Amino acid sequence: MKKKFFNIYILIIIIIFSIILTGLLYTKYIIKENGDNIIFLENFTVNDEKNDFGEQKIVIDENNFFKCETIISKKMFNKIDGDALLIVSRIRGSWHKVYFNNKLIGMIGDDKYERVNLWNNVYKFVISEKLIENENSLVFYTYSEYKIGHGNIPIFISDTRIGTEIFYLLRTIYSNLYIFFLSILLAMSSMEIMMFIITKMNNKIVFLFPVSIFIISIYILDYIVVPHPFLSDLLFKKIVLSLLYISSIVMSIALSKLYKSKIILNIAKIIGICVIIMFILSSNLIELSYYSTRLNLVLLLSVISWIIVSFRNYRLYKKTQDYMICFSGLLLLGPSIHDTFSLLLFDGKLMRLGVYGIVFYSVAILLITLINYIDYQNLIYSEKKIIEVEKERLKKALILDELTGLYNHRHFYEAFSNRIKVKNENIDIIFIDIDKFRPINDLVGYEIGDEIIKGISNEILNVVKDKEAVYRFGGEEFVIIYNNIIGNITSNDIAEQIRRKIIANEELQNLSGYLPLTLSIGIASYPKDSIDPKLVVSKAEKAMIFAKLNGRNKVSIYDSNIELQLEDDSQTNYRNQVLIKSIYNLASAIDLKDTYTGYHSAEVSRFAMMIADELKLSDEKKYAIRLGGLLHDIGKLSISDTIIRKKGKLTDEEYSIIKEHPKTGSDITCKIVDNNDIIACVRSHHERYDGAGYPDGLKGEEIPIVARITCVADSYHAMISKRSYREGMSKEKALFELENNKDTQFDSKIVDVFISVMKDI
Ligand code: GH3
Ligand code: MG
Ligand code: MG
Repeated sequence: MKKKFFNIYILIIIIIFSIILTGLLYTKYIIKENGDNIIFLENFTVNDEKNDFGEQKIVIDENNFFKCETIISKKMFNKIDGDALLIVSRIRGSWHKVYFNNKLIGMIGDDKYERVNLWNNVYKFVISEKLIENENSLVFYTYSEYKIGHGNIPIFISDTRIGTEIFYLLRTIYSNLYIFFLSILLAMSSMEIMMFIITKMNNKIVFLFPVSIFIISIYILDYIVVPHPFLSDLLFKKIVLSLLYISSIVMSIALSKLYKSKIILNIAKIIGICVIIMFILSSNLIELSYYSTRLNLVLLLSVISWIIVSFRNYRLYKKTQDYMICFSGLLLLGPSIHDTFSLLLFDGKLMRLGVYGIVFYSVAILLITLINYIDYQNLIYSEKKIIEVEKERLKKALILDELTGLYNHRHFYEAFSNRIKVKNENIDIIFIDIDKFRPINDLVGYEIGDEIIKGISNEILNVVKDKEAVYRFGGEEFVIIYNNIIGNITSNDIAEQIRRKIIANEELQNLSGYLPLTLSIGIASYPKDSIDPKLVVSKAEKAMIFAKLNGRNKVSIYDSNIELQLEDDSQTNYRNQVLIKSIYNLASAIDLKDTYTGYHSAEVSRFAMMIADELKLSDEKKYAIRLGGLLHDIGKLSISDTIIRKKGKLTDEEYSIIKEHPKTGSDITCKIVDNNDIIACVRSHHERYDGAGYPDGLKGEEIPIVARITCVADSYHAMISKRSYREGMSKEKALFELENNKDTQFDSKIVDVFISVMKDI
């Protein structure tokens, strides 16, 4: 699309065009070049009387007919051989008769019907050689409110050959000129109205310009010979004259809205009122002419207000449209001033906005229309531009991450696939994940967490230096598309640089509080590791997870071993999940067998875990304690219900059977799991710290720590549990009991830890 439609050359062409047109109207000069044997009747007057403008004075007879007469001496005819041709242009009236030496030489129109529109045409009359005398009188007798043949082309007499040539030339001009104007104006206004509809513009101001042109184009019909049998001359004239003023009212409304000017609008209102008065009051053509010439005064005021306001606006905003309106106004000013002067000096009986006026008016409105068209185009262009910019912005917003300004996940695959398609280069995907970010967030809050994410993205950009290459892939994950051969710096170098920069960045480290801020990074390559972009990313992620499993704050590069190890890990994980689930089920079976109500094994496991956590034991020990707690009473499955559920005192034999359960339990456990700590939990949870326990009589630190912990958890839960034959102890009493049996039954360190944990609950 072109940037601007306005072109100064268009303006120049239009001005030249209008000058040529104006020149054409001065056909007087063109005619003169045709030879000297032409008699111009410029001094066509009645009894030699002229006014100051050189116009002929008109006499109105008793029937309201005009009689115009001039005397031509024989001398003038000497230039002409044979018959002469009288050429009359633009005589207005319903009819006219031409007498030469009192002999009727021709008549135009029909004196019986007053409906013939004669004006704006050229007529010829033959003056026979025989009629010419020494003093010749030429008389026009017409019924009209206007004078005869004023303006552009005076009445002239020539020989028949030249006269006929000029006659046809003028007739062509007259019959085409207005049609030409009319069609241009109609085309322009229709074009604008169409544009208005097509572009669905709801700007009423812009719509009013073509409407004004449309109206003035109908006014031009007055200058074309139009038979109008359904309307009287007066009504037709009233309508077309009103159209001139209505057109200017519409124009004024548009301009007053455009410039927010009340003056323009008020003058338009005055014109409106005057038009109504003119329409109502004028009962004949003479009166109509009288009112309409006075209306020209207001029209002049209106035009001046257009000029002033548009000039002021042009000075303020330097818009072409204002300049053109001002310029068009100046064009209109000429004929308006002329008409006004005529009105003031000659009582309004001389001219209205005549043919020059129409030419100027047409050119002026044409210019405004053109500028409107240009403005339309510019507006549409700029609107399209705005839409494009907006689209671009939305598109960007869709693919940009708000927090970091990096491209987001959505854009990543598109960009990655494009790079592969276009260049088919080797590309490494560097997958970065912040280590333990959840606890950092929990510690410092999400807002600072966001600051950290932003800071890390900046550091990544500092290293990579290519905004197109860095993506915020997830909440705290970044991905870099890296061409691994740039400047001999490998993607591993890049990843290491980033990792180190984060550790070294004091500001970021301070933001994360006492928790260290580190990154785990994985790298995979296209096409080496896969030709599927998604798989390359997933492999880079696997390498990142591998880095996490190996202690975090590391970079690892994908290879097939990583995959195998992760698979191993995930299988072990899966098996563990199954094991834990079945042990939980087993524990409920054990709890059902015993006299406890509720979930004794699960509770022992939970209490034991609380102690292990507080003691900061390793993950492995915690795992053993969790399962050991669940399984500790499994040996009881082999004891008969009568002994277990006996309410009275147990016999020695029965008691020794009961005491067997840790041993049988450990025998069963070693068949279920291959973990010494779990087995120890089961076997040694009835050992006492002073060595008086069973089944092995272990003492102090000889008892595995996991078993000592299980022992405290088991005893505490046993004390607080409600049995079928007694109520459970209170929490305080149970803890007191533990405290009392420190160093005898229980490991004092463990009891202390447990009591401190339980205090907070
Ligand atoms: P690790 O990766 O080392 O295994 O541990 P992690 O705690 O970082 O675990 P994970 O990668 O699953 O953590 C995701 C956490 O990142 C969850 C959430 O707390 C944090 N997070 C994700 N997106 C945002 C975000 O936009 N702003 C903030 N402040 N935190 C986020
Ligand atoms: Mg993550
Ligand atoms: Mg993380």
